[in-house]
Amino acid sequence: MKYENEARVFFSAKSENESFARIFAAGFLAQIDPTIAELTEVKTAVSEAVTNAIIHGYEKKEGLVELFCGYKGNRVYIEVADQGEGISDIKQAREPLYTSKPEMERSGMGFTIMETFMENVRIDSRIGEGTRVYMEKTLAKE
Ligand code: ATP
Ligand code: MG
Repeated sequence: MKYENEARVFFSAKSENESFARIFAAGFLAQIDPTIAELTEVKTAVSEAVTNAIIHGYEKKEGLVELFCGYKGNRVYIEVADQGEGISDIKQAREPLYTSKPEMERSGMGFTIMETFMENVRIDSRIGEGTRVYMEKTLAKE
């Protein structure tokens, strides 16, 4: 088995659910006793990915966002997925300050923040099918 423990939730693509997503991840990961700083970093990365799913993946459409959390030892695994519009140029999307929505006062820093706080950030995306972001992080404790 890849994970020692795992949890998955699906919720409506509404901005009201961003804090629910952070709380879900924090509540699940509390079991492995992360530091406050580690927990803040994971929650921030989750928040960025979930916000992206809601505002870019689904835009104004309805849909479900999937959040997966798992761990094995002190290694944490997170996935955030949508079945929305997908990303046409992943390399460009990952660039710091790139945003397709400058008019919405987006700063284009979401993926950069995920990469700063997490390891092995991977993006799987297909136009018209959706996007899945994978992230990992090794916590300091043994
Ligand atoms: P910020 O996160 O700073 O508010 P942003 O969301 O535009 O701004 P990133 O989070 O780095 O910046 O994302 C970069 C771009 O990648 C987005 O502008 C969007 O075009 C695209 N993108 C990101 N996530 C998704 C997604 N789930 N579905 C479709 N497009 C996405
Ligand atoms: Mg973003």
